[in-house]
Amino acid sequence: MHVNARKHFAIPPDERVRLAEIDPGDTGSFTAEADAHQATHDALAAIADLQYRLYAEHRHALLIVLQAMDAGGKDGTIRHVFGALSPLSAYAHAFKEPTPEEAAHDFLWRVHKVTPGHGEIAIFNRSHYEDVLVVRVHDLVPEKVWSKRYARINAFEKTLVRGNTTILKFFLHISRDEQLRRFAQRLDDPAHQWKISESDYTERAYWDDYMRAYEAVLEKTSTARAPWYVIPADRKWFRNWAVAQIVAETLRTIDPKTRAPSVDIEEIRAKYHEVERSEHGA
Ligand code: AMP
Ligand code: MG
Repeated sequence: MHVNARKHFAIPPDERVRLAEIDPGDTGSFTAEADAHQATHDALAAIADLQYRLYAEHRHALLIVLQAMDAGGKDGTIRHVFGALSPLSAYAHAFKEPTPEEAAHDFLWRVHKVTPGHGEIAIFNRSHYEDVLVVRVHDLVPEKVWSKRYARINAFEKTLVRGNTTILKFFLHISRDEQLRRFAQRLDDPAHQWKISESDYTERAYWDDYMRAYEAVLEKTSTARAPWYVIPADRKWFRNWAVAQIVAETLRTIDPKTRAPSVDIEEIRAKYHEVERSEHGA
């Protein structure tokens, strides 16, 4: 029996969260990567099928928010889990430091513009939550400003949900040690050296401040309509399994149905036979 990832990793609304008490190395009932292989594979196949139905139905949108510390596995999750999606109706958007134009607007301006439309799935690599994470940790705006953003984020997400958008928010939870291991791997792997930035190490010094900022996010913005999931992410295969399960299960709940045809299929079929007869002879 495997844990129900959707129930197990969801943060209940208004609950005090202590990240130190959630083990980033947790692998649930699995002991090795091979145990999860089939289940992950099946979930990815289900996601691909459900995405097609979501697209065909054109009624619901799905927004997935990925947040994590540096080297936390956001890119890897996009590649390994969301790589199963067809680019026809899915896209990923990475949020960087605001451009001058973005900074001249309200913090939600750049976010609302890239939310998914009906039939679409959007994956946010970082998000509006940076405005209460990096911004809070480094006092980029006064507390008076950032402290009001939690309520504004909840109101914004409520607006999206009213518009038939389902929202899933994942915090990929890695340990401090695992982050250092991943930085070391990047240093040694020429293919990944480009990912290293000076700020990785300077930000690491603020680890505890980030954990507190994440705890505030989880407490204040995990709602029934837009829940946060804290995913143990030291083991990449377990992270992929958990995220894939939750996405598949959520899409099953949306239960998109391919639309009924807008034309009379029997009439079209009769026309088709007529054309076939005239072009190929009876
Ligand atoms: P990366 O995801 O490694 O490409 O880095 C993107 C950088 O942009 C990270 O250091 C983020 O903290 C930063 N960033 C994203 N959104 C914001 C924001 N709203 N304000 C300040 N920095 C941000
Ligand atoms: Mg980075």
